[in-house]
Amino acid sequence: MQLLDVLCQEARSAGASNAVGISARDVVVNPRVRLKCQVPLCSHYGKSIMCPPNVMDVEEFLLYLERYRWGILLQLELPVPAEIVPKASDPPFVQRLSLGDFRAQPSHRDFRRKGKQLLSSVVNRVEGMAMRQGYHFAAGFVGGSCALCDVCTGPSNPEGCRKPFQARPAMEAVGIDVFSTAERAGIPLTHLPKDVIRWTGLVLVD
Ligand code: SF4
Repeated sequence: MQLLDVLCQEARSAGASNAVGISARDVVVNPRVRLKCQVPLCSHYGKSIMCPPNVMDVEEFLLYLERYRWGILLQLELPVPAEIVPKASDPPFVQRLSLGDFRAQPSHRDFRRKGKQLLSSVVNRVEGMAMRQGYHFAAGFVGGSCALCDVCTGPSNPEGCRKPFQARPAMEAVGIDVFSTAERAGIPLTHLPKDVIRWTGLVLVD
């Protein structure tokens, strides 16, 4: 379909490493994904405006999903800067860090946040292009919590979302199984080494 090709091209020119057009029927939804926001408890649960329980639940998302025909699944793959990758010269305790501990380091957090901001801009660009083509129900989602601000204002703050036209819900928050969807799309998310990180986004169209 030409629209999907145009949107994939837009995703790549905005910075995506990969983008594929998929049937909306190939978006895999599993309520256990949302369970994993709470078990173990994600630090964004209840705090980010774009994460559970502050976004639509899985059942509501399924009602919307069945109205769509297509989606663009896109990925960003960025090399982790050499200065924050563990080196052979680092002390043994650094070498022994688990991937989770390694990613919890402030330097890695900053790097991830910048990558997620780029992901948001790519998703927004694709969504915007779809809308300009006349597909006014185009709707974007990003893998992981919104990272557009240093700290989210949170759901009960009267200030509300600081960037409501840029922030998009987390794919996982609405129950999208990102791993299975990527596998179906032919761009599987294999376990990556410590020196590469990958983010996934989705734009539903038509
Ligand atoms: S844009 Fe800022 S305030 Fe809005 S959801 Fe994202 S982090 Fe929170």
